[in-house]
Amino acid sequence: MAGGNAIRGSRVGAGPMGEAERGDSAPRVVVQYWCANGHETRPSFAQDSGSPVPETWDCPRCGFPAGQDQANPPQPLRNEPYKTHLAYVKERRNDADGAVILEEALASLRARRLVP
Ligand SMILES: [Zn+2]
Repeated sequence: MAGGNAIRGSRVGAGPMGEAERGDSAPRVVVQYWCANGHETRPSFAQDSGSPVPETWDCPRCGFPAGQDQANPPQPLRNEPYKTHLAYVKERRNDADGAVILEEALASLRARRLVP
């Protein structure tokens, strides 16, 4: 059922930033997260919510999931809304053009010996 997977799209009200000075006495804990792109974010969570802080957090800069282990950030899921440049290109073109672009990209990578 629940498993240890990402809690996606968690948005707590208006966000953790603007609520720090509202005078509620709930203790807050600041947790550091890092995404696969090396971005760091530090949301804070109320400790009286009865649930632990989420294992992952959406990076506010690039939308990738961010984890608490800087050395081993979670990999983005395939169905994340984040789109690569190639995805944008393919949206504007038909599949044939997309295939050509993909081949060109692969050829470029092969030329740089990044892929076999
Ligand atoms: Zn990021």
